[in-house]
Amino acid sequence: MTKHIVILAGDGIGPEIMAEAEKVLAKVNDQFGLGLSWSHELLGGCAIDTHGVPLPDVTLDAASKADAILLGAVGGPKWDQIERSIRPERGLLKIRSELNLFANLRPAILYPQLAHASSLKTELVAGLDILIVRELTGGIYFGQPRGIRILENGERQGYNTDVYSESEIRRIAHVAFQLAQQRNKKLLSVDKANVLEVTELWKQVVTEIAPEYPDVELSHMYVDNAAMQLVRRPKQFDVIVTGNLFGDILSDEAAMLTGSIGMLPSASLDQHKKGMYEPCHGSAPDIAGQGVANPLATILSVAMMLRYTFKADAAALAIEAAVGRVLDQGLRTPDIYSEGTTKVGTQAMGEAVVAAL
Ligand code: NAD
Repeated sequence: MTKHIVILAGDGIGPEIMAEAEKVLAKVNDQFGLGLSWSHELLGGCAIDTHGVPLPDVTLDAASKADAILLGAVGGPKWDQIERSIRPERGLLKIRSELNLFANLRPAILYPQLAHASSLKTELVAGLDILIVRELTGGIYFGQPRGIRILENGERQGYNTDVYSESEIRRIAHVAFQLAQQRNKKLLSVDKANVLEVTELWKQVVTEIAPEYPDVELSHMYVDNAAMQLVRRPKQFDVIVTGNLFGDILSDEAAMLTGSIGMLPSASLDQHKKGMYEPCHGSAPDIAGQGVANPLATILSVAMMLRYTFKADAAALAIEAAVGRVLDQGLRTPDIYSEGTTKVGTQAMGEAVVAAL
């Protein structure tokens, strides 16, 4: 049976970068005989324009049946004034929760050719390759009760609840251990167990699971130290697993170490490794339609999809190597351009990756 991908190009630069990612997907599909098929649906602003809602039933239905979803980006000023509950970004949150995509994988990889783009010293970041695994559907972002209430003395009080059940911790920990097994077999669990009971349990459960993965070296770190170490000596890390709130912050910090948002892919997986794959950046309305957006984050999202959902490691590696070769050739979209390199547009960059394959 062929495996099927639903492509949601979305808004702004979404369709431009997705067109290039699709060329790369078609190339490796042929080259490696992957037998993948794909079709397109609407999500975000384009879906609002056509169906009146950001996540139409037809899109959710197709995404539910698909083996993987490839997303461009959604949103833009055109839809910023409409009612909050039907804004483009709501479509994105809804599809993540409807598909139960609880494991968010955010690699922070710095190609040596782009080391100058980081705000850290080159020797600290050149060759950086970290994978942050963030729990995405629990913790303080979803815990009840929450709200802003009026106290008896008339003062307002805001409150949220950070809550994780054992099963939620266990399933994300298993994902992280298995990813560590596929990489350098080092897993760091980040918590604040000295202050927060919810993360004390987190640490206990992760530690309990560790004997099931004897080949993986598990360590623990408090989140404040992890934030510090990420800018002090980032290459000490391989796979990092943490909860929703800490993961949100640490993954953005790690992404910024690379200095180039147009290069970073991401994945959100469910229990069965079905996933939604997308670049970390947004729809970049400021450059949409100009043919200058960097398609590499979306192309690298295709590589992640092949690796994690379709277990096509050789094809994933081929895409990553092709991106490396294109950078070696000195080709750069404007966001990663520096003196002495060759500035190219979205399409030329995509076609160069296909040629390098
Ligand atoms: P953004 O990531 O779209 O843009 C930030 C800056 O980075 C801009 O200057 C943009 O030109 C640049 N940039 C982003 N991607 C690039 C690429 N591939 N190549 C070259 N330059 C790139 O973030 P924003 O400006 O805060 O948000 C714009 C819109 O995107 C908003 O509507 C926001 O809600 C939405 N958004 C969507 C997602 C998503 O779909 N996952 C994520 C973040 C933001």
